[in-house]
Amino acid sequence: NEPILSVKGLKTYFKTDEGLVKAVDGVDFDLYPGETLGIVGESGSGKSVTNLSIMKLIPSPPGKIAGGQVLFEGKDLLTATDEELRKIRGNKISMIFQDPMTSLNPFLRISTQLVETIRLHQGLGKEEAREKAIKVLEMVGIPAARKRVDSYPHQFSGGMRQRVMIAMALSCNPQILIADEPTTALDVTIQAQILEIIKDLAKEFHTAVIMITHDLGVVAGMCDKVAVMYAGKVVEKASTQELFDNPQHPYTKGLIKSVPRLDQEMKEKLYSIEGQPPSVIDLPDACPFAPRCEFAMDVCRKKYPTTTVRNGREVACWLYADEAQKAEVLEKEGA
Ligand code: SF4
Ligand code: MG
Repeated sequence: NEPILSVKGLKTYFKTDEGLVKAVDGVDFDLYPGETLGIVGESGSGKSVTNLSIMKLIPSPPGKIAGGQVLFEGKDLLTATDEELRKIRGNKISMIFQDPMTSLNPFLRISTQLVETIRLHQGLGKEEAREKAIKVLEMVGIPAARKRVDSYPHQFSGGMRQRVMIAMALSCNPQILIADEPTTALDVTIQAQILEIIKDLAKEFHTAVIMITHDLGVVAGMCDKVAVMYAGKVVEKASTQELFDNPQHPYTKGLIKSVPRLDQEMKEKLYSIEGQPPSVIDLPDACPFAPRCEFAMDVCRKKYPTTTVRNGREVACWLYADEAQKAEVLEKEGA
């Protein structure tokens, strides 16, 4: 079983007046056919930049992909031509974002936009494409789809628009769907419905999904495995079950403690991790979580932790590294 997408050592930097922002700094993960990977982290952790880098959608300047590979069907997307990328984007790899209005054209009927997409990607005739458009709208739960297919985007509610976006993204049978906070702007009930739709359709079409979210509830509800990001790096990777049962990185532990439980009143103040996420400008070679970490040791402030791999799990934290490695760092720094 080969991964459908393999991200290796991805680095995306931005030049700013304040200094170099290492928004994504050495991210690795594999995505296998049909599975759902959650990328979770606070805003500014680099999860959206990771997603945009995969599709080479980083504005340059000020951004620059400074290293790494994104292998899709054996090809490195980072060195692909614009022409090759156009064939892949919105076709083999589809994306949905938080605000569907950024991707829907407000001046065109839904039918026009959907039929165009379907014709472009599936080479169908106009009538056939229209029938298919109605079918996908029905699949994403748009009531009276046959009647409403000719509406304009503003005639739909936010939740309905997000369904249209999903219909659009899935109408070309992509191998990978990247969803960046697709439900953050919606209210809780609608959120749950939209996530169910993505989950069901991904299963039906055997689409692999990258779900980018700050919400561990979303991860618990739909992801097979998780990569936790902090300050541009993946600090922990595990299956969803293992991550919740036995989080290892102190940051992950904090995140999981801060997930609202069903038996808690929503109004009750949630546990939250003390301190601010670090600025990723000119970060020193140290664990960026150290200022917020109750377990921080000397070595944590001297060098970024090595990644420990054990039983298919990965964690970048000095608590799990072997003593010899820690001693080596301290010795070097001490000298
Ligand atoms: Fe905390 Fe040190 Fe682990 Fe960083 S490396 S999370 S500071 S214990
Ligand atoms: Mg984001």
